[in-house]
Amino acid sequence: MAAAGDQGNRVLRGIPVSPGVARGKTYVWQRAETEVPRWELREEEIPAELDRLERALVATRQQLLDVQRQVTEVMGAEEASIFDAHLLVLEDRVLLDEVVRVIRRDRVNAEYAFHQVAQKYMAALARVEDEYLRERVADMRDVTARVLSHLMGRAHGLDLSHLREPVIIVAHDLTPSDTVQLDKTKVLGFVTEIGSQTSHAAILARSLGLPAVVGVGRVLQEVESSVYALLDGFNGLLVLNPSDQVLFEYGQLVRRQISLEEKLREVVDQPGVTLDGVRVPILANIEQADDVEAVLACGAEGVGLFRTEYLYINRPHPPAEDEQYEAYRRVASTLRPRPVIIRTLDLGGDKFLSHLVAQQEMNPFLGWRAIRLCLQQPEMFSVQLRAILRASAEGKVKVMYPMISGLDELCQANELLERCKAQLRQQGLPFDEQIETGAMIEIPSAVLVADALARRSRFFSIGTNDLIQYSLAVDRMNERIAHLYEPTHPAILRLIRMTTRAAEAAGLRVSVCGEMAGEPVLVPLLLGLGVHELSAAPPLVPRIKYLVRRIRMNEARDLAEWALTQESASAILRRCEELAHDAAPLLFETRRVDI
Ligand code: PEP
Ligand code: MG
Repeated sequence: MAAAGDQGNRVLRGIPVSPGVARGKTYVWQRAETEVPRWELREEEIPAELDRLERALVATRQQLLDVQRQVTEVMGAEEASIFDAHLLVLEDRVLLDEVVRVIRRDRVNAEYAFHQVAQKYMAALARVEDEYLRERVADMRDVTARVLSHLMGRAHGLDLSHLREPVIIVAHDLTPSDTVQLDKTKVLGFVTEIGSQTSHAAILARSLGLPAVVGVGRVLQEVESSVYALLDGFNGLLVLNPSDQVLFEYGQLVRRQISLEEKLREVVDQPGVTLDGVRVPILANIEQADDVEAVLACGAEGVGLFRTEYLYINRPHPPAEDEQYEAYRRVASTLRPRPVIIRTLDLGGDKFLSHLVAQQEMNPFLGWRAIRLCLQQPEMFSVQLRAILRASAEGKVKVMYPMISGLDELCQANELLERCKAQLRQQGLPFDEQIETGAMIEIPSAVLVADALARRSRFFSIGTNDLIQYSLAVDRMNERIAHLYEPTHPAILRLIRMTTRAAEAAGLRVSVCGEMAGEPVLVPLLLGLGVHELSAAPPLVPRIKYLVRRIRMNEARDLAEWALTQESASAILRRCEELAHDAAPLLFETRRVDI
């Protein structure tokens, strides 16, 4: 996706995933081990170097044990056993003795010696016939990276603490665990080589209000650190060494953005309601309890999706019941009487406990994720359910289950919830006896059995991010097929309509909490298809409300009725754009630049 202009104004293009403009120096970050330095030692320095190696091995072992304990607590002993192989590498005397020999014999530093020896072992392992031994290469690579990180004083994840001024991060990819840890005072925005609109790093960028562009192929080869650049999250551009003309153009665009934001402030205290008087509550998606301030500031009418998995990532132990209770209680009581939909743990897919545990499955999005993982770990799941129930005594809390594929899962989850209620009753702890439970509709099979799910649910929330990925068989992380990820695909519209029909028949309300709900162009279509509520990242809420207050429900219904007869996703999208642009032209002025 990269394209170049002249050297003084190089323009790289990607997928815009989070609006806004940032200007500053680039900071190129690569997770993989980079250059391993080599230096020579004096004879008398060798003992201290061996000590340094020993300390790094001990620290790595401790780190692996921590990760293993965390994985055991959340995912079970079997999953955690993969780290046994990592620990064995650290106990391999033949390997370690050779490293010590190289340090003594060649009088070189420990990282260089470790790297040399590990490379030699990995090359040898990669050549053997035995598949089991060949697979040990990955374990050795991981352990080597950790040992080198300790020796070279580098954190294993993205560490920005040494930076003096905020930067535009340029990386191959940022995992959700990297992104959620970003120090906002140090980051102006980010650009990645891979990813798409609905990868969780992109979703987090929108929540954090950080401009972001993904899918800029080969950006790591094109960009160095400390280059002055302009990042345009509206149009998906990274401009290196921007010329005065470009800076001027962007000055205008930022002015348009400021005047739009002023206009949007007018709707913050207003309800979501169409011109013909239909109420459409606009709620917010959040990732942590601290986001509650942003919910209040953006004028959301509650929380439509609390992604609780972020409480679990980047830490050695899963949060205990009291800690979770405190987080949920804080959100519920602050927003009371507004509703707060707490989604139970959705680990898996691209959300791992840390990037250290990533990629152990061949198809993680089709794998051990969300409700599947929770139902197999009932003790861990009960801790969360009890915490949610207790928080329901403090505000209007609802429970929502992710990745429901059929009735069995929903019934099992509800049964466990009932058991948790019984425990709380016995302990005399208060909770809302009428607490509502709902299913996320994000797997095509759930749509097909939505009538049955509706009989056991009090509400539905459509997770369009996954519904599109699973229905169209388009990996939501993969920038190469991002053009096939089409929210207006006729199949998607039919699935949404089938869901709202099943809900209507059972008297349930339906919301959309996937990223479609935060895209103004698509909002009239969703409402026309029978969706009652929308939930989006806080910075997007005012735009959605602004648009809803400028359309008529009968126009939206006509649009949807027409769209359901169409065969072409792009023709449907064009009509959606026309309607949204006519209703609220101001919203789209930041999407134009001429460079
Ligand atoms: C979705 O799939 O649309 C959704 C809201 O959940 P997540 O993005 O966390 O998978
Ligand atoms: Mg989902």
